[in-house]
Amino acid sequence: MIALFLAVQIAGASASARAPTFIVVRDGQATTSVPVTISDGQPCVRADLLMKAMKGMLITGTNLHYTLALPRARLDLIDGIPFAKLDSLTVPLTRAPQVRGGQLYLPFQFVSEVIPRYGGGYFYDVVQGELRTSGFVAVSRAPAPTGSAAAPTVTAAPAPAPVRTRPAPRVSAPKVIVIDAGHGGPDRGMTGPIGTPQWFTEKDVTLSVAKKITTVLRARGFDVLMTRTTDTLIALSDRGRMANSNHGDVFISIHCNAPGSNTAAGARERGFETYFLAEAKTEDERRVQDMENESVKFETGANAPKGDPLNFIITDMAQNEHLRESSDLAQTIQQGLIDVHPGPNRGVQQANFSVLRGSYMPAVLIEIGFGSNQSEATYLSDQANQRALARNIAESVIAYLQHYDSRIGGAR
Ligand SMILES: [Zn+2]
Repeated sequence: MIALFLAVQIAGASASARAPTFIVVRDGQATTSVPVTISDGQPCVRADLLMKAMKGMLITGTNLHYTLALPRARLDLIDGIPFAKLDSLTVPLTRAPQVRGGQLYLPFQFVSEVIPRYGGGYFYDVVQGELRTSGFVAVSRAPAPTGSAAAPTVTAAPAPAPVRTRPAPRVSAPKVIVIDAGHGGPDRGMTGPIGTPQWFTEKDVTLSVAKKITTVLRARGFDVLMTRTTDTLIALSDRGRMANSNHGDVFISIHCNAPGSNTAAGARERGFETYFLAEAKTEDERRVQDMENESVKFETGANAPKGDPLNFIITDMAQNEHLRESSDLAQTIQQGLIDVHPGPNRGVQQANFSVLRGSYMPAVLIEIGFGSNQSEATYLSDQANQRALARNIAESVIAYLQHYDSRIGGAR
């Protein structure tokens, strides 16, 4: 943490030393100057002036949201938040954009790195202090008589090193694994099987399996946080919050599946699938997403999600950093389950689960099978089968953590 802080300080200092008092935005023959101002010792530029010079537009949204609309790219920002968003990509910033005196100021890093890399065809020439459209060949800025053929110099800035604000790898720190038993209390989850008296209740099976996973992981020396250990209702948003405040390293949510309709065809649906957080892409993913997000209706008062878009975007941004890890973790778990689960293997899926959304760590949701299917409900209710599933999931999580450790340990 200290090392990271120093690195940021040094980067900031050198950026400050490098930044000119103004930059020139060049688009073909047209040039516009944009002043570089210093705030808290750091260089920055006014977003509206920069956008105007670049023939773009600064769009002011609600809730402190801003969009830099460039001719070929759009970057979304939030006042005070050190991230920019480009479609689904989250770009960490060394400092947050800030509104002062009614104007949005961007850290100089936008001119030197962010726009050259993500702006859709710009280079920043450090020597000339010039931001220009790519393909344009720079002519020496020394006042040249009209018509003189000054030697053209192409001074495209080299691609800057990737910006990293991720915390230092926690290789040696003990791992905290969060195990989330789906539903609970009045929220029973799905019940089944279809076509019989309902003897299978999701909330009971998820708790039973979650406890067994916890037993295996604790025996292997891991710290485990269970979001619930009894038949109680825990708000979806509180599950993630709990995981964050306990510094969880991974978040595993256990659920049982049900088909979209109580038809004979629906009753035949079976198999296991693992989800990671992202926009749902298919009808089926959307169905499972809506089903699991239903739990919100049991939540009241302070627990109910506020639907605050600012809060959502920040959460979304933080979670995005873990998208790749979450996808890897889902893959590892899904592959592992093939060895024990009768199947079929329904694959790794993606959806926007509320429960996964609130956790700032790699997070997955496992649908361990269909409680709506007579034989799978029987399989899932069996204690020995639950132990086998739990052992398998626990081993996959451990394998993932070890792989992740060696990967980040080796790369840095
Ligand atoms: Zn569920």
